[in-house]
Amino acid sequence: MRYAEVAVDAPVSHSRTFSYSIPDNFSVEPGQLVWVPFGRRLVQGLVVQLSPTPQVEITRDILQPLEPSPLVSPIGLSLGSWLSQYYFCSLFECLSLLLPPGFKAQVRSRVLATSAAEGESDALRPQTADAMRKLANTRQMGEGEFTHLLGRNGTREVNRLVDSGLVRRQVNLPRARTFHYQCFLIPTISAAGEPTGSQKLSPRQAKLLEAVQSYNQGYPASLAHKEFGRPTSMSLVERGLLALEWIREERAPLVANNSAGSPTSQVPPLILTSMQEDAVTRITQAITNSGAITDTNRQPRNFLLHGVTGSGKTEVYLRAMERVVSAGQQTIFLVPEISLTPQTVGRLNERFPGRVAVIHSRMKPREKFDQWWQIRDGEYDVVVGPRSALFAPVPDLGLIVIDEEHEWTYKQEEAQPLYDARTTSLELAHLTGAVVVMGSATPDVETYYHASTGQGRGRTRLLELPDRIGTPPKGRKIAEGQRSALARVSVCDMREELREGNRSIFSRGLAQALKECVNANHQAILFLNRRGSAPFVQCRDCGYVLTCPSCTVTLTFHSTIARLVCHRCNRRIRTPRRCRQCGGERIRQLGIGTQRVVDEVTGLLPGIRVERWDADSSRSGNGPEQTMAGLASGEIQVLVGTQMVAKGLDLPNVTLVGAILADVGLHLPDFRAGERAFSLLCQVAGRAGRGPDPGRVIIQTYNPEHYAIAAAATQDYSAMYRLEIQTRQAQGNPPFNQLTQIRFQDVSATGCQRQATELARLLRQRVAARGLADVEIAGPAPGIPERIRGHYRWNVLVRGRNLHRFLEDVRLPPNGVVDVDPAHLL
Ligand code: ADP
Ligand code: ZN
Repeated sequence: MRYAEVAVDAPVSHSRTFSYSIPDNFSVEPGQLVWVPFGRRLVQGLVVQLSPTPQVEITRDILQPLEPSPLVSPIGLSLGSWLSQYYFCSLFECLSLLLPPGFKAQVRSRVLATSAAEGESDALRPQTADAMRKLANTRQMGEGEFTHLLGRNGTREVNRLVDSGLVRRQVNLPRARTFHYQCFLIPTISAAGEPTGSQKLSPRQAKLLEAVQSYNQGYPASLAHKEFGRPTSMSLVERGLLALEWIREERAPLVANNSAGSPTSQVPPLILTSMQEDAVTRITQAITNSGAITDTNRQPRNFLLHGVTGSGKTEVYLRAMERVVSAGQQTIFLVPEISLTPQTVGRLNERFPGRVAVIHSRMKPREKFDQWWQIRDGEYDVVVGPRSALFAPVPDLGLIVIDEEHEWTYKQEEAQPLYDARTTSLELAHLTGAVVVMGSATPDVETYYHASTGQGRGRTRLLELPDRIGTPPKGRKIAEGQRSALARVSVCDMREELREGNRSIFSRGLAQALKECVNANHQAILFLNRRGSAPFVQCRDCGYVLTCPSCTVTLTFHSTIARLVCHRCNRRIRTPRRCRQCGGERIRQLGIGTQRVVDEVTGLLPGIRVERWDADSSRSGNGPEQTMAGLASGEIQVLVGTQMVAKGLDLPNVTLVGAILADVGLHLPDFRAGERAFSLLCQVAGRAGRGPDPGRVIIQTYNPEHYAIAAAATQDYSAMYRLEIQTRQAQGNPPFNQLTQIRFQDVSATGCQRQATELARLLRQRVAARGLADVEIAGPAPGIPERIRGHYRWNVLVRGRNLHRFLEDVRLPPNGVVDVDPAHLL
């Protein structure tokens, strides 16, 4: 195999690889990271395949491997290739998800003036001559800096100078960060064959060679450089007598993750309920059968565990994981966000002490790097983390758990590839034979549809856990001391409150409940949907609302700094005294922010300890751990927060949850708005009454008739699902069709709109030309907000079936990004 197919780190069309020849002095394997020439540049590439023949006649050599052994496994290569095809993203970018953290590196290229350049400046354009003089003075400079000096079309000008021999380009290959590697010199076969004397070596070279040969462990290169000088050792490498070998340094293992907790033996084994038992049996059957997947034996291997909070889902995951561990396999456990799920992580650590790798964003690069190798070496049974943990290099994957599967954080929305960890899990499970268990109290409507109908990707089976643990069967009374059923939910119509003269943000019912809760020494959570509910400033005379001049989103008033803040670009401005539109002076703050709620609670119940928890408070110092500790100790009596408080909190002393304004978010122009509002309200309601005392939930709204609010009030997932799925079918939205959004961003408003319009026209032509009845093009339309960080946004939406085939060979302009199965349409 003299040729390699390489995925290169360059903007190329998705899934494309390039052929390179393998020089004689080293070998490469699929999965290995290498440096390759690409056009005029040097880039990283990942060897995908070896082949006896190249795709093209003339090939260039692979320059050198970055790392002596493959970094991506064969399964990883298949997954990368699938990602690339499914998400229309470059193969290299997809494969980089599977590389150890910190491996991507850029080539640093420098330029020097050659001797030919002297006296040549007359023939050059003035700006180039000027740049050449500066270059001659400094002898060399970074290519980027030099290109900048050349001004417009600098890149083309550099290439011209290189071609005419006036400038030489020098490229330094950065090796992947070497601090974690140790480089050794080892004798090659040719050195071993001949005695040192016969080689016409300098005394220094001979001495070094001898020293290396006498070391059977490999001679540290750093030592050789120090004792004999770098040129000496490198000259021997060049002559082929010594070779360099990089060996990963062994590190003391990281301090075990809070595994100091109680050892397994102290946890009394729970007796599973019959529903749990059934779920565990089906899942473990699938795990045990993993070796025997044949076409005739196609039992579903993927599961959706639907159960309200406290119904024992986590216990089911843990049992399935025990089975996987006992078979010597590993589990990847995905959570929406690691810092918001300390209790889940705690329970994993308790059940598998010292065997859980926790991946989180606050780790130092070094820790991440070490952990990656430890995971690959099989030092952990469980890897828990956010969506990217799916790409952890576990040696033998048995199970993927996706907790709170409806959370949209499972969709990557920021960087390519824009993958959905749930869809990708199904593919990874298919490749490895692993089993996927997704769990939620309020499953994504699409997941639930697939699981309950047995259709769609991955053939998922639905497992229901309908009751909270400890709930007596229907018709029996709750005995003393038993866990209560779900919290009691009531809806407060705020229109009525207003009609009756109550202008407070609290309905009388909520105010009363809050007093009772605090008096009983219980804790309360007040939840505020952030979207649009942040305090905004409006002119009472003309209705003008202040927006950010560069982002067109509503500015939020922050009373602590007395400034208006843009939540997209962080611009901060003072509230103007006069309205920009009508000049009126009655500019008032409207809407509700967390700080306002805190102030009102303090007004209502002086002297109690209220804490807020939202993106701002966690940024300004009070970490989630601190807030958690305050809540656990009971020091914090009332917690006010946004989406963050809805997730994962398990506090037995919380008996009251108030949703300050449930309407917010309902009317966003996104077909999932209702579903999201429902699931958020259910989740937040699930925070109440987790302990022995019954919980109460009060939902305040101006729109109690809305189906999402009505269903949330009765905590009735199936009611919401029935309505939602009908609407989806009627409107042709997922799961009945697939969506793909093509997004454009540009500093020029007209340029952005033109590109989007052009693409939409092209796609419509294609639909017509192919006579497709099942593909529909919507837009282009401006995004919401229209502008982010100075970039205008326009979107084109494609809806229908077989979209991959439809879009396969569409060439996108460079500013366009394809988002397959978008989580948000704004
Ligand atoms: P979920 O993940 O659905 O919120 P959990 O698995 O956390 O539910 O269970 C809720 C609580 O009930 C936990 O404290 C758990 O230890 C307990 N629990 C789970 N299963 C059982 C069982 N079979 N018997 C008694 N307690 C259980
Ligand atoms: Zn802004």
